[in-house]
Amino acid sequence: MGNGKVALITGSTSGIGLGIAEAMAKAGYDIMFNGLVRDDAEKEIAQKIATDIGTKYGVKTLFSPANMMKPEEIRAMVLEAETTLGRIDVLVNNAGIQYVAPIDEFPEDKWDAIIDINMNSAFHTSKAVWKGMKARNFGRIINITSAHALQASEFKSAYVTSKHGITGFTKVLALEGAPFGITCNAICPGYVLTPLVQKQIPDQMKTHNMTEKEVIEKVMLYKQAIKEFVKVEDLGALAVFLASEVTSMITGVSLPIDGGWSAQ
Ligand code: NAD
Repeated sequence: MGNGKVALITGSTSGIGLGIAEAMAKAGYDIMFNGLVRDDAEKEIAQKIATDIGTKYGVKTLFSPANMMKPEEIRAMVLEAETTLGRIDVLVNNAGIQYVAPIDEFPEDKWDAIIDINMNSAFHTSKAVWKGMKARNFGRIINITSAHALQASEFKSAYVTSKHGITGFTKVLALEGAPFGITCNAICPGYVLTPLVQKQIPDQMKTHNMTEKEVIEKVMLYKQAIKEFVKVEDLGALAVFLASEVTSMITGVSLPIDGGWSAQ
């Protein structure tokens, strides 16, 4: 059953975003789904994800294929959610990509895409939802950053830069949102076994000449004190908590959920 509130979650057709969307739907939020699609077949699959979750939890859902590299598509997605679902109470900036290469080999187009999708899109979405949140004197903006928003790793220059950028952006929105009941926080996950991470495993196996098991234990989870992947369900539960009314005094925070990585 719906709770009368609406959440827009970018990059919610896969991985962490999908897990957060499902947790929020279960908590009664109507959901605007979003994700990148390359053709009509992928669009149909994405729309079905949204419809199935809506049916399962008895909430309204929509899907927008807005490309997070295109500000005009972002603005159109926000307008569509506000018009069709009535409002946006919760914005989760989650869409993100990764590319790993040494700085002298890092392709310029990959740098630009990572900065646009992981960082600049959060500016465009937040700016677009701000007016409505301010008018209703309530808003929750949740940025999915990373342990790499607080720590660096070699060969991830664009990713670490984009995520550190959002850490600063989170603090600024917390200050600007304070008079209007709008909070802004970041969730900083360690490694989560999603398609984004699965794609990195073959490259890492080649680079380090290791088996899949060795890459997971000795490379990926090397920096985490707890040698387990973070669960999508746990991230969903944290997002639902941060979206709730009881967190009105938590703002500007970057919250690691990283098995102790950032404790070191
Ligand atoms: P994923 O690849 O499973 O999902 C990414 C989502 O973003 C998909 O829905 C995809 O369609 C969407 N997307 C990508 N480019 C887009 C674009 N241009 N426009 C619109 N949507 C686009 O990835 P994930 O692992 O679930 O990652 C989600 C977020 O969590 C990212 O911001 C990532 O940096 C962050 N994160 C992931 C991990 C991890 O270990 N998986 C750890 C820390 C942080």
